[in-house]
Amino acid sequence: MNSLLNKPQSLPHQREKRISLTAVFIGFVSLSVLLTLTISIISSTQAQKKSLIHNTLALNFTTAVQMSKTMDSLFQFMQSGLTHAAGNFNESWETLPQEDMESRTDLIRNSGGYFNSIVLVDEEGKVRATSPSSIGTTGSRITSQAGRTALKSKKAFISEVYMTSVTKRIIVFISEPLFDQNGNYQGFIGGSIYLQDKNVLNQIFGGQFEKNGTSYFYIVDSKGQLLYHPDKNRIGKDISANPVVQQLMKGKGGMQQYVNLDKVDSLAGYTPIPSSGWGIVVVSPTKIINDQLLRHVLQLLLYMLVPLAVLIFIVVWTARQIVNPFVSLANVVRNFEQGGSVPSKPRVHWNREADLLTDTVVRALHNFRRQSEQLTHEAMTDPLTGLMNRRTFEDTIRRWIDQRVPFAILVLDIDKFKVINDTYGHQTGDVVLKQVAGIIQAGVTPQDVSSRFGGEEFVVLLRNLEPSEAFLKAEEIRKSVEQAVLIIDHPVTLSIGVALYPQHSSTATEIFHLADNALYLAKEGGRNRTVMIQEQERA
Ligand code: GH3
Ligand code: MG
Ligand code: MG
Repeated sequence: MNSLLNKPQSLPHQREKRISLTAVFIGFVSLSVLLTLTISIISSTQAQKKSLIHNTLALNFTTAVQMSKTMDSLFQFMQSGLTHAAGNFNESWETLPQEDMESRTDLIRNSGGYFNSIVLVDEEGKVRATSPSSIGTTGSRITSQAGRTALKSKKAFISEVYMTSVTKRIIVFISEPLFDQNGNYQGFIGGSIYLQDKNVLNQIFGGQFEKNGTSYFYIVDSKGQLLYHPDKNRIGKDISANPVVQQLMKGKGGMQQYVNLDKVDSLAGYTPIPSSGWGIVVVSPTKIINDQLLRHVLQLLLYMLVPLAVLIFIVVWTARQIVNPFVSLANVVRNFEQGGSVPSKPRVHWNREADLLTDTVVRALHNFRRQSEQLTHEAMTDPLTGLMNRRTFEDTIRRWIDQRVPFAILVLDIDKFKVINDTYGHQTGDVVLKQVAGIIQAGVTPQDVSSRFGGEEFVVLLRNLEPSEAFLKAEEIRKSVEQAVLIIDHPVTLSIGVALYPQHSSTATEIFHLADNALYLAKEGGRNRTVMIQEQERA
C-alpha cells in the first residue's frame, strides 16, 4: 500500500518559499490602487497648480490695483492738504511771528498725519519753520537737491527717493508753492515721508498681508528705487533690474511669474500709481502654491487611509476565502497520503468551483484507496480458496523470523487427491479444495496465517505457540477435516508435517524443508496423520 502512496512526494506541504495567493492578491490590489492614486493625484495637482497660479496672479493684480487706487487717493489728500495749507500762508514772512509759523506747521503735520515732517521755506531758500522743531534747521538754507528743485520749479513737486545728507534718512518729499496775496512766489511748504520710519504708507498698508504671512508687497518710484518693502533695510535700494519693475517703469501693469533678484520664483501682480509715477507690486512666492498642493495631497491621502485599510482588509479576507478551499483540499490529500481517512462528506465552501474540485478529488481518493486495497488483497490471496497465497506466506515467514517471533509451521497435503479429481471431476475437486481451506482457516486464530502453497498443499503459520501445543493444534485441524461433511461422500483426509521456529531451525528455507520432510514421513507412515520433526531426523 505504501509503495503506491509514497510516490507523490512532490505535494508541496513543506511550505517552501513560494508566493502565497493572498500575497499576490494584496500585491495586485495595492499596485492598482497605488497607480490609480498616483495618476489621479498627479493629474489633479497639475490642473490645480495651474489654476492656483492663475488665481494667485489675478488676486495679486487685483490687490495691486486696489492699493494703487488707495495710494492715488492718499496722494490727492496729501497734495490737497498741502495746497490748503499753502493758501493759509499768503501773508509776507515779515508779518508772521515765528511762533505762529511753528504752531501752524505743527498743526498741518498733526492734523493730516500724512507726513513725518513739514518744512516751511522762503523764496531765498531759507528754512523759516519746521515741524517737529527738533529737526533744528530753522534759519539755515535748504541743502537738499529736492528742496532746491522745488524752489526752482515754483510748482507742486514730488521728489524721487533720496537720502538726506545729515540725518541719512531715506525720504520722499512733496511740496506746494506759496504765493502772497498779490500772487508773488514766496517759497514752498514741503512734507517729507520717512520711508524707513513709522509712516503713512506702512500705517495704511502694513497690516494688509499680516493674515497671509507669505505674500507681501512693495512700492517703487519711477526710477526703480524701493519706497516701501516689508524688509526696511531694502528701502531706498535700486531694484530696476527686476523684470516686473522694468514693466512698471514703462508705465505698464499686469501679472507675471518671474524669478526675482533673490532668485526666488514669484507670482506678481503690479500696477503703476498714476498720480506719483510710482508702481506697486504684490508678490507671492510660487512655493506657497507647492505647499498648498502638498497639504492638499497629504489631506487626500489622509482621507484615503481608512477606505484603503478597509479595502486591504476586504482583499485579505477575500483572498483567504479563495485560498481556504485549496488549503483544506491540500490537507485532505496530505492526510490521505499519510494513510489517514478521507472525509466522506467534504467541507462545503462558498465557492462552487472549489466545492466541485474538492468533491472530485475526494471521490478520486476514495476510488483510489478502494482499488488499491482490492489490488493489495488480490495480490495477497489465492483466488480459489480465499486463503493467503504462497507469496504472502513467504513474506510472513521472513518477517516473523526477522522479528524473532516464535512460530510453528504446518505443511498440509490432501491425501490421494488425484483420486478425488479422477472420480468426481476437477470442478468438484475445486469445491473440495475450498471446503478444506475453510476448515483450516476456521481452525486458526486471526494472528495466524493460513495459505495455499499450491495444488492441494497448504501451509499454516501458528504464531506464539508453546511447542507442545503445535502438534495438538495440527491434529485438531486434521481431525476437523477428517470428520467434516463435505460435498462428496469419499473420505477426505490430510497429512501434516510440523516444525518449530526457533527450536528446529533459524532459517525460513530450512524450517520449511524440515516441515516438508515431516509431511513426507506422514505420507510414508500411512497418511491421515501428523508428524512433528524429531531431533534425530534433523541431525
Ligand atoms: P498423495 O496422497 O501422495 O498426496 O496423493 P495425491 O494424489 O494427492 O498426490 P499427487 O501430487 O500425485 O496429486 C495431486 C493432485 O492434485 C494432482 C492434481 O490434479 C490435483 N490438483 C492440483 N491442483 C488442483 C486444483 O487446483 N484443482 C483440482 N481440482 N485439482 C488439483
Ligand atoms: Mg501434493
Ligand atoms: Mg496429495
